[in-house]
Amino acid sequence: VSSQLKTMELSVDLDRLMSRHHALAKIGATGRGGVCRPALGPEDTAARRLLLDWARARSFSCAIDPIGNLFVRRNGGEPGWPPVSTGSHLDTQIPGGNYDGIYGVIAGLEVLETLEDHDISTRRPIELVVWNNEEGARFSPTTMGSSVYSGATSIEAALESCDREGISVRKALAESLSKLGNLDQHAFGAPCHAYIEAHIEQGPVLEAEGLSIGVVTGIQGISQFQTTITGEAAHAGTTPRRRRRDALLAAMSQISGLAKLAEDPGDKLRFTIGKLTVLPGTPNTVPSEVAFTIDLRHPQREALDAFRNSIERICGTETLSCKSKVNEFLNSPPIDFDARVRSVIRDAAIGRGASFMELASGATHDAKYMAKLCPTSMIFIPCLSGISHNEAEMAAPSDMECGANVLLDAIKVLADETASPIAQVPA
Ligand SMILES: [Zn+2]
Repeated sequence: VSSQLKTMELSVDLDRLMSRHHALAKIGATGRGGVCRPALGPEDTAARRLLLDWARARSFSCAIDPIGNLFVRRNGGEPGWPPVSTGSHLDTQIPGGNYDGIYGVIAGLEVLETLEDHDISTRRPIELVVWNNEEGARFSPTTMGSSVYSGATSIEAALESCDREGISVRKALAESLSKLGNLDQHAFGAPCHAYIEAHIEQGPVLEAEGLSIGVVTGIQGISQFQTTITGEAAHAGTTPRRRRRDALLAAMSQISGLAKLAEDPGDKLRFTIGKLTVLPGTPNTVPSEVAFTIDLRHPQREALDAFRNSIERICGTETLSCKSKVNEFLNSPPIDFDARVRSVIRDAAIGRGASFMELASGATHDAKYMAKLCPTSMIFIPCLSGISHNEAEMAAPSDMECGANVLLDAIKVLADETASPIAQVPA
């Protein structure tokens, strides 16, 4: 039997994948089709525990790092070689759906188990990661686990982050750990051969194109600004127009200027004014101060930077006799995923006869931080109407199966590779 044929005979177990999907959907179920599992809460801990139960039943080794990322490892023939990693997250929005993050975790476990079912050994270990607090719905920042793991955020800052009740990550993590059983220790930023994260698209493109697989080219950049415009409070009934310094009219003028600039025939630029506050905020007073945020996203650095550079010109200068200042509080440039990992995923999709396209991710993922550590890409599957961060989130079992099989084939190829672009230091 040629190895080519053997790969094609090997497929994930759809019944098992779906039974795990349904088992996780029960933990923190809202009764409205969604699920509520804030990071490190009792439901998130129960979901993590269930995953560990499944992993331990297969004798995979289980470990945790100091920020609470979980690692499930199936050993390879060369145990000292850096593993191929895959994974996502089990925490959800408050409430969220049953697919965001969860799909990548159960698809990854399916890869380990399918290889185990068929007694197929790979040269490299394969590691499934469950990142802690990806959603950022309970603790700030989002993608906390992978950010700390990659060194982008300090562990101390992350552990001190508190939820609305004042409970710190440090305290919630200790509580959660006490329910997970014995775990080995895992180091931050351990050498990794490659990382692939499977995820629902969370957007409408694949469904609209009628495709099964998205080979993800990267993650679009994001930039956020805070603008503050200062006018002068005045009586709404007595103050003539020429005497007014109306901060809201100045804000409207700036916002319409920005919106005009954001017109993009290719529809790649995302421009949002998501928060606007008006002071003093009474019906009969001319607004004295207006603050608004600007959220900008684009997959290409040059295009994002061009817009960023225009913001100071529009929002940083006096407008309609009102003072105006703007500052950028977040700038995360676009991430390009690794060309070789993308080609391995593309070949896997072709090998499975799956229809696919290349696309950039509109949302941020843990893969963004893994891309700093090792060659990385993602596999998207379509989701119903692009709906996500919503209890109505849905993906078709046939797409879930296809995505998991493409993940399996791609990981198997990478896990048998000897040459590595990074030094082969024992993990
Ligand atoms: Zn996610």
